[in-house]
Amino acid sequence: MDSACPAGTVSPLQYRGGALHLERVALEAVAQRFGTPCYVYSRAAIEAAYRAYDAAFGDRLHRVCYAVKANSNLAVLNVLAHLGAGFDVVSGGELARVLRAGSKADRVVFSGVGKSAAELRQALAAGIACFNVESAAELERLNQVAGEMGLRAPVALRVNPDVDAGTHPYISTGLKENKFGIPAGDALALYRRAASLPGLRVQGIACHIGSQLTDLAPLREAAGRIAALREALLAESIAIDQVDLGGGLGIAYRDETIPGAAEYAAAISAPFAGSGVEISIEPGRSIVGPAGVLLTRVEYLKPGAQRNFAIVDAAMNDLLRPALYDAHHAVLPLREAGGEAKVWELVGPVCESGDFLAHARTLALAEGDLLALRDAGAYGFAMSSNYNTRPRPAEVMVDGDRIHLIRARETLDDLWRGEEMLAE
Ligand SMILES: *Cc1c(COP(=O)(O)O)cnc(C)c1O
Repeated sequence: MDSACPAGTVSPLQYRGGALHLERVALEAVAQRFGTPCYVYSRAAIEAAYRAYDAAFGDRLHRVCYAVKANSNLAVLNVLAHLGAGFDVVSGGELARVLRAGSKADRVVFSGVGKSAAELRQALAAGIACFNVESAAELERLNQVAGEMGLRAPVALRVNPDVDAGTHPYISTGLKENKFGIPAGDALALYRRAASLPGLRVQGIACHIGSQLTDLAPLREAAGRIAALREALLAESIAIDQVDLGGGLGIAYRDETIPGAAEYAAAISAPFAGSGVEISIEPGRSIVGPAGVLLTRVEYLKPGAQRNFAIVDAAMNDLLRPALYDAHHAVLPLREAGGEAKVWELVGPVCESGDFLAHARTLALAEGDLLALRDAGAYGFAMSSNYNTRPRPAEVMVDGDRIHLIRARETLDDLWRGEEMLAE
């Protein structure tokens, strides 16, 4: 079968004897043991994706900071912490998770447009590596909080390189009209301000121009603009020894061609050739996306005059991406099927017309069949909810032929914990 992994890594999914395996584990066995819906991740695939990025930079001073929001399960974070990964967090909750999973705080960078004073305090007390500051107001607040604590906060400004949307219309966070980052035109003035504040230590420039990028051109362009800004700052004696070039390399949900890690690293490093600057990246999707599947069972078949519906036991509350972005996830039967194929709409039990998982897939289906939605390791469980009072699925990690439950399926008691009825 085709691979959805970054070049240089191997898809962990394979049919053997007609049964779909993740690493050496038959996914049917996982479904039997833990029920469906169920997320299953491959440790080997996560590690291979991380190592491909790490190796791609060779001798150059670099750090690969996994973007925690893609999948924040403690086991996933712990596996990456063991490899020496850094972490990119966007909330105090994510910071707490990373520390809980065994990482040191000095490997953590903190991104996001809305960090509260409490979160700034928490991260300063922990001693994180860098705050990626996204506005003038945040800069002032961070200076004040750090001052109150008698500390100097390490900062980078997240600059919006305004990469041309005309040529690259899919870029969603690197443009002027976006809520993220500091407009490139304001950057110099804000760096001067930051350098003058006693509670801050200016050390980096950060940018992140978008997600699911399949072309290196916009990343190369953004890196070039960041390098130019670094030169301009040097001319004002503001020394920048770290640049963070964001996450965003895509994965092959369909048959997209994705640049390899080496090509990617070469493209973003090129403008910094000959400088000793440390390059950080913050990949999320490309580390965990292809490593995970969502298992689901066909509850009912409902063939119709217009469309054939296969109602499965997973829904938009378990995997939101199709409903939210019209995202595509390949659907694989856990057992290679022989019967007559038809075109099916895969829908869930949630009471919303938008509750679909896949459109127009040609599959031979019968009631009770087990299916895997591919590339569900990123922004899958992490975006799940309890809508319709549906307990969230179990999460499992396979490692060779071993199966580890890394998050138990939620119980109904979990769901109403903290709720109180009126006394009368
Ligand atoms: C979401 C995000 C990432 C990760 O993006 P991916 O597309 O998952 O690689 C990295 N950095 C920042 C600031 C983000 O918001």
